[in-house]
Amino acid sequence: MTRDTTWRTGMEGEKYFFEMFDGLPRAGPGDDECTRRAFTAMEGLPPKPRILDVGCGPGKQTLELARVSGGHVTAIDVFQPHLDRLVADAGEQGLAGRVEAVNMSMTDISYGDGSFDVVWSEGALYIMGFQRGLRECARLVRPGGCIGATEAVLLRPDLPDEVRRMWQEEYPAIMDVEGNLRLVARVGLRLLDHFTLPETAWSDNYYAHMAVKVEAMKAKHAGNGTALEVLRKAEEEMRLYREYSDFYGYEFFVARKP
Ligand code: SAM
Repeated sequence: MTRDTTWRTGMEGEKYFFEMFDGLPRAGPGDDECTRRAFTAMEGLPPKPRILDVGCGPGKQTLELARVSGGHVTAIDVFQPHLDRLVADAGEQGLAGRVEAVNMSMTDISYGDGSFDVVWSEGALYIMGFQRGLRECARLVRPGGCIGATEAVLLRPDLPDEVRRMWQEEYPAIMDVEGNLRLVARVGLRLLDHFTLPETAWSDNYYAHMAVKVEAMKAKHAGNGTALEVLRKAEEEMRLYREYSDFYGYEFFVARKP
Protein backbone atom coordinates (compact mmCIF):
# COMPACT_ATOMS: atom_id res chain seq x y z
CA MET A 1 0.00 0.00 0.00
CA THR A 2 1.49 3.31 -0.99
CA ARG A 3 1.08 6.76 0.43
CA ASP A 4 -0.70 7.75 -2.82
CA THR A 5 -3.73 6.11 -1.27
CA THR A 6 -3.72 8.61 1.54
CA TRP A 7 -3.19 11.60 -0.73
CA ARG A 8 -6.71 10.91 -1.96
CA THR A 9 -8.02 11.10 1.61
CA GLY A 10 -5.84 14.11 2.50
CA MET A 11 -3.65 14.80 5.54
CA GLU A 12 -6.32 13.42 7.85
CA GLY A 13 -6.19 10.15 5.90
CA GLU A 14 -2.41 10.09 6.16
CA LYS A 15 -2.74 10.13 9.95
CA TYR A 16 -4.75 6.87 9.88
CA PHE A 17 -2.44 5.38 7.27
CA PHE A 18 0.53 5.86 9.62
CA GLU A 19 -1.51 4.63 12.59
CA MET A 20 -2.20 1.42 10.67
CA PHE A 21 1.51 0.76 10.19
CA ASP A 22 2.54 1.77 13.68
CA GLY A 23 3.36 -1.41 15.63
CA LEU A 24 3.38 -3.79 12.63
CA PRO A 25 6.52 -5.99 12.49
CA ARG A 26 7.01 -5.05 8.84
CA ALA A 27 5.83 -2.15 6.70
CA GLY A 28 5.88 -4.25 3.52
CA PRO A 29 6.27 -7.82 2.27
CA GLY A 30 9.52 -9.42 3.40
CA ASP A 31 11.14 -12.52 4.76
CA ASP A 32 14.26 -13.07 6.87
CA GLU A 33 15.36 -16.04 4.78
CA CYS A 34 15.20 -13.91 1.62
CA THR A 35 17.23 -11.18 3.32
CA ARG A 36 19.87 -13.79 4.16
CA ARG A 37 19.83 -15.28 0.65
CA ALA A 38 20.30 -11.85 -0.93
CA PHE A 39 23.16 -10.96 1.41
CA THR A 40 24.84 -14.32 0.85
CA ALA A 41 24.75 -13.73 -2.94
CA MET A 42 26.93 -10.64 -2.53
CA GLU A 43 30.63 -10.81 -3.41
CA GLY A 44 33.82 -9.10 -2.36
CA LEU A 45 32.63 -7.68 0.97
CA PRO A 46 34.88 -7.07 3.98
CA PRO A 47 34.24 -9.05 7.21
CA LYS A 48 32.40 -6.12 8.82
CA PRO A 49 30.73 -4.25 5.97
CA ARG A 50 29.28 -0.74 6.30
CA ILE A 51 25.65 -1.05 5.22
CA LEU A 52 22.97 1.55 4.47
CA ASP A 53 19.32 0.40 4.68
CA VAL A 54 17.07 2.86 2.81
CA GLY A 55 13.40 3.14 3.92
CA CYS A 56 14.02 0.69 6.76
CA GLY A 57 10.52 0.79 8.30
CA PRO A 58 10.41 -1.01 11.67
CA GLY A 59 13.64 -2.68 10.63
CA LYS A 60 13.09 -6.47 10.58
CA GLN A 61 15.50 -6.71 7.65
CA THR A 62 17.87 -4.19 9.25
CA LEU A 63 18.33 -6.46 12.27
CA GLU A 64 18.66 -9.58 10.13
CA LEU A 65 21.29 -7.82 8.03
CA ALA A 66 23.25 -6.77 11.11
CA ARG A 67 23.17 -10.39 12.29
CA VAL A 68 24.09 -12.07 9.01
CA SER A 69 26.72 -9.53 7.94
CA GLY A 70 28.53 -8.98 11.23
CA GLY A 71 28.79 -5.36 10.07
CA HIS A 72 27.28 -1.97 10.94
CA VAL A 73 23.91 -0.91 9.51
CA THR A 74 22.81 2.71 9.17
CA ALA A 75 19.04 2.61 8.69
CA ILE A 76 17.13 5.63 7.35
CA ASP A 77 13.40 6.36 7.26
CA VAL A 78 11.13 9.40 7.68
CA PHE A 79 8.58 7.81 10.06
CA GLN A 80 10.02 8.29 13.55
CA PRO A 81 7.89 5.58 15.28
CA HIS A 82 9.50 2.98 12.95
CA LEU A 83 12.96 4.24 13.89
CA ASP A 84 12.10 4.18 17.61
CA ARG A 85 10.89 0.61 17.27
CA LEU A 86 14.10 -0.38 15.47
CA VAL A 87 16.27 1.16 18.20
CA ALA A 88 14.29 -0.65 20.90
CA ASP A 89 14.43 -4.02 19.07
CA ALA A 90 18.16 -3.62 18.34
CA GLY A 91 18.74 -3.08 22.06
CA GLU A 92 16.69 -6.13 23.03
CA GLN A 93 18.48 -8.30 20.47
CA GLY A 94 21.97 -7.24 21.54
CA LEU A 95 22.60 -5.32 18.31
CA ALA A 96 22.50 -1.75 19.64
CA GLY A 97 26.14 -1.00 18.84
CA ARG A 98 25.80 -2.18 15.25
CA VAL A 99 22.55 -0.50 14.20
CA GLU A 100 22.04 3.24 13.87
CA ALA A 101 18.59 4.65 13.07
CA VAL A 102 18.54 8.03 11.32
CA ASN A 103 15.54 10.18 10.37
CA MET A 104 16.51 11.10 6.80
CA SER A 105 14.66 11.18 3.50
CA MET A 106 15.89 8.98 0.67
CA THR A 107 15.41 11.97 -1.63
CA ASP A 108 17.95 14.00 0.35
CA ILE A 109 20.62 11.59 1.59
CA SER A 110 23.57 13.47 3.03
CA TYR A 111 26.14 10.62 2.88
CA GLY A 112 28.90 11.06 0.33
CA ASP A 113 29.59 9.02 -2.81
CA GLY A 114 30.96 5.54 -2.08
CA SER A 115 30.33 5.75 1.69
CA PHE A 116 29.06 2.16 2.04
CA ASP A 117 30.10 -1.39 1.14
CA VAL A 118 26.42 -2.37 0.76
CA VAL A 119 23.29 -0.34 0.07
CA TRP A 120 20.05 -2.16 0.87
CA SER A 121 16.38 -1.31 0.40
CA GLU A 122 13.36 -3.59 0.80
CA GLY A 123 10.11 -2.32 -0.71
CA ALA A 124 11.01 1.35 -0.53
CA LEU A 125 12.86 2.53 -3.64
CA TYR A 126 9.53 2.80 -5.50
CA ILE A 127 8.99 5.98 -3.45
CA MET A 128 11.43 7.80 -5.70
CA GLY A 129 11.04 5.40 -8.63
CA PHE A 130 13.13 2.25 -8.97
CA GLN A 131 15.52 3.64 -11.58
CA ARG A 132 16.26 6.82 -9.62
CA GLY A 133 16.48 4.72 -6.46
CA LEU A 134 19.03 2.34 -8.02
CA ARG A 135 21.08 5.30 -9.26
CA GLU A 136 21.16 6.76 -5.74
CA CYS A 137 22.18 3.36 -4.31
CA ALA A 138 24.92 3.13 -6.96
CA ARG A 139 26.18 6.59 -5.96
CA LEU A 140 26.31 5.65 -2.27
CA VAL A 141 28.07 2.30 -2.67
CA ARG A 142 31.84 2.12 -3.24
CA PRO A 143 33.22 0.58 -6.45
CA GLY A 144 33.10 -3.20 -5.93
CA GLY A 145 30.34 -2.82 -3.33
CA CYS A 146 26.90 -4.41 -3.60
CA ILE A 147 23.24 -3.42 -3.74
CA GLY A 148 20.24 -5.47 -2.59
CA ALA A 149 16.74 -4.18 -3.27
CA THR A 150 13.21 -5.47 -3.63
CA GLU A 151 10.66 -4.00 -6.01
CA ALA A 152 7.03 -4.82 -6.82
CA VAL A 153 6.84 -6.61 -10.19
CA LEU A 154 4.21 -8.01 -12.53
CA LEU A 155 4.62 -11.78 -12.83
CA ARG A 156 2.12 -12.26 -15.70
CA PRO A 157 1.02 -10.01 -18.56
CA ASP A 158 -2.66 -11.08 -18.59
CA LEU A 159 -3.75 -8.97 -15.63
CA PRO A 160 -7.39 -9.09 -14.50
CA ASP A 161 -9.03 -5.65 -14.82
CA GLU A 162 -9.20 -4.96 -11.10
CA VAL A 163 -5.51 -5.76 -10.65
CA ARG A 164 -4.56 -3.54 -13.58
CA ARG A 165 -6.67 -0.73 -12.07
CA MET A 166 -5.06 -1.10 -8.66
CA TRP A 167 -1.53 -0.82 -10.02
CA GLN A 168 -2.54 2.01 -12.32
CA GLU A 169 -3.75 3.90 -9.25
CA GLU A 170 -1.04 2.90 -6.80
CA TYR A 171 2.12 2.50 -8.87
CA PRO A 172 1.72 2.95 -12.61
CA ALA A 173 5.49 2.56 -13.13
CA ILE A 174 5.39 -1.13 -12.07
CA MET A 175 7.13 -3.42 -14.61
CA ASP A 176 7.85 -7.08 -15.10
CA VAL A 177 11.10 -8.72 -13.94
CA GLU A 178 12.77 -8.31 -17.35
CA GLY A 179 12.03 -4.58 -17.38
CA ASN A 180 13.64 -4.19 -13.98
CA LEU A 181 16.66 -6.25 -15.03
CA ARG A 182 17.12 -3.78 -17.90
CA LEU A 183 17.11 -0.94 -15.35
CA VAL A 184 19.78 -2.69 -13.28
CA ALA A 185 21.95 -2.93 -16.40
CA ARG A 186 21.17 0.66 -17.46
CA VAL A 187 22.41 1.94 -14.10
CA GLY A 188 25.69 0.12 -14.79
CA LEU A 189 25.34 -2.63 -12.18
CA ARG A 190 26.29 -6.29 -12.61
CA LEU A 191 23.48 -8.64 -11.58
CA LEU A 192 24.46 -11.29 -9.00
CA ASP A 193 21.06 -12.85 -8.24
CA HIS A 194 17.34 -12.23 -8.45
CA PHE A 195 14.39 -14.14 -7.07
CA THR A 196 10.71 -13.71 -6.25
CA LEU A 197 9.68 -13.48 -2.59
CA PRO A 198 7.41 -16.36 -1.49
CA GLU A 199 3.70 -15.68 -0.94
CA THR A 200 4.19 -16.07 2.81
CA ALA A 201 6.35 -12.91 2.74
CA TRP A 202 3.07 -11.10 1.98
CA SER A 203 0.39 -13.24 3.63
CA ASP A 204 2.02 -14.37 6.89
CA ASN A 205 4.71 -11.76 7.48
CA TYR A 206 2.78 -8.65 6.42
CA TYR A 207 -0.95 -8.87 5.71
CA ALA A 208 -1.80 -11.19 8.63
CA HIS A 209 -0.58 -8.46 11.01
CA MET A 210 -2.18 -5.69 9.00
CA ALA A 211 -5.55 -7.49 9.06
CA VAL A 212 -5.51 -7.62 12.88
CA LYS A 213 -4.63 -3.91 13.05
CA VAL A 214 -7.35 -3.00 10.54
CA GLU A 215 -10.00 -4.81 12.61
CA ALA A 216 -8.88 -3.01 15.78
CA MET A 217 -8.90 0.36 14.02
CA LYS A 218 -12.36 -0.25 12.51
CA ALA A 219 -13.72 -0.60 16.04
CA LYS A 220 -11.74 2.36 17.34
CA HIS A 221 -12.71 4.71 14.49
CA ALA A 222 -16.30 3.52 13.88
CA GLY A 223 -18.25 6.35 12.23
CA ASN A 224 -15.09 8.16 11.03
CA GLY A 225 -15.44 8.19 7.24
CA THR A 226 -11.83 9.19 6.52
CA ALA A 227 -10.35 6.47 8.71
CA LEU A 228 -12.76 3.86 7.37
CA GLU A 229 -11.85 4.78 3.77
CA VAL A 230 -8.14 4.21 4.50
CA LEU A 231 -9.02 0.86 6.13
CA ARG A 232 -11.32 -0.12 3.25
CA LYS A 233 -8.44 0.48 0.82
CA ALA A 234 -6.17 -1.72 2.93
CA GLU A 235 -8.75 -4.51 2.99
CA GLU A 236 -9.18 -4.23 -0.78
CA GLU A 237 -5.41 -4.49 -1.27
CA MET A 238 -5.30 -7.62 0.93
CA ARG A 239 -8.25 -9.20 -0.92
CA LEU A 240 -6.63 -8.59 -4.31
CA TYR A 241 -3.42 -10.27 -3.18
CA ARG A 242 -5.36 -13.27 -1.81
CA GLU A 243 -7.10 -13.70 -5.16
CA TYR A 244 -4.34 -12.74 -7.57
CA SER A 245 -0.96 -13.50 -5.99
CA ASP A 246 0.08 -15.29 -9.22
CA PHE A 247 -0.04 -12.01 -11.09
CA TYR A 248 2.29 -9.80 -9.05
CA GLY A 249 4.88 -10.04 -6.33
CA TYR A 250 8.13 -8.65 -5.01
CA GLU A 251 11.42 -9.41 -6.71
CA PHE A 252 14.78 -9.27 -4.91
CA PHE A 253 17.57 -7.85 -7.09
CA VAL A 254 21.18 -8.29 -5.99
CA ALA A 255 23.88 -6.50 -7.97
CA ARG A 256 27.48 -5.30 -7.76
CA LYS A 257 28.95 -1.96 -8.74
CA PRO A 258 31.95 -2.55 -11.03
N1 SAM B 1 11.84 -1.80 4.37
C1 SAM B 1 10.73 -1.78 5.29
C2 SAM B 1 10.07 -3.13 5.35
O1 SAM B 1 10.21 -3.92 4.39
O2 SAM B 1 9.38 -3.40 6.35
C3 SAM B 1 9.69 -0.70 4.97
C4 SAM B 1 9.02 -0.78 3.63
S1 SAM B 1 7.65 0.34 3.52
C5 SAM B 1 6.78 -0.30 2.13
C6 SAM B 1 8.36 1.83 2.90
C7 SAM B 1 9.09 2.64 3.97
O3 SAM B 1 9.60 3.82 3.36
C8 SAM B 1 8.20 3.11 5.13
O4 SAM B 1 8.81 2.73 6.33
C9 SAM B 1 8.16 4.63 4.98
O5 SAM B 1 8.10 5.31 6.23
C10 SAM B 1 9.47 4.89 4.28
N2 SAM B 1 9.54 6.15 3.53
C11 SAM B 1 8.53 6.81 2.90
N3 SAM B 1 9.01 7.92 2.31
C12 SAM B 1 10.35 7.95 2.58
C13 SAM B 1 11.41 8.85 2.26
N4 SAM B 1 11.19 9.92 1.52
N5 SAM B 1 12.64 8.57 2.71
C14 SAM B 1 12.89 7.47 3.48
N6 SAM B 1 11.93 6.57 3.81
C15 SAM B 1 10.69 6.82 3.37
